[in-house]
Amino acid sequence: MNRNDMERVKALVRNIPDFPVAGIQFKDLTTAFKDPFALRAMADAMAELYEGRGVTKVAGIESRGFIGGALLAAKLGAGFVPIRKPGKLPADTISMSYDKEYGTDVIEMHRDAITSDDVVVIHDDLLATGGTMLAAFKMVKSMNPKAVYINFVCTLKGLNGRAMLPAEVEVTSLFDFDGK
Ligand code: AMP
Repeated sequence: MNRNDMERVKALVRNIPDFPVAGIQFKDLTTAFKDPFALRAMADAMAELYEGRGVTKVAGIESRGFIGGALLAAKLGAGFVPIRKPGKLPADTISMSYDKEYGTDVIEMHRDAITSDDVVVIHDDLLATGGTMLAAFKMVKSMNPKAVYINFVCTLKGLNGRAMLPAEVEVTSLFDFDGK
């Protein structure tokens, strides 16, 4: 992974204070995705992390995880599967609920999306508290794939989301932000 390229991409991420609620520093990756250099650099850097590892499926988390997830899948010659909010997927689904600060949330995927022959990378744009990715990980694991890896475009280090995810799982991130 080219560190200078990733610093250039990081510098393109727009910070939006108090979105969607007061106190949140929202990392808007659309300003990086819309930049031709950054989009390609992110795709190349993610692919470099997983090339030669037998990845057969990339599972992207709705909705910003669809962008990088599909790029990564295409680069690896793998398939892409969506992890979605409830009621969006048309065929038979499995689901996983998880606690949020206020109430619970649910994510779903198609029951036939992953098989025991698959090697899976789960991708999302950003690791915050880790709650969403932990639920996605448990759901993918329940389908008994050969291996599961986790990848983010970026991590908010200050929230320590890595500690929420199982220690034995390989978690990668293209770049980090120090704050929350
Ligand atoms: P979490 O479950 O707390 O790790 O939250 C992860 C999900 O929420 C990801 O899909 C992110 O896109 C989104 N998210 C949480 N916090 C932020 C933030 N500060 N900036 C941008 N996206 C965020």
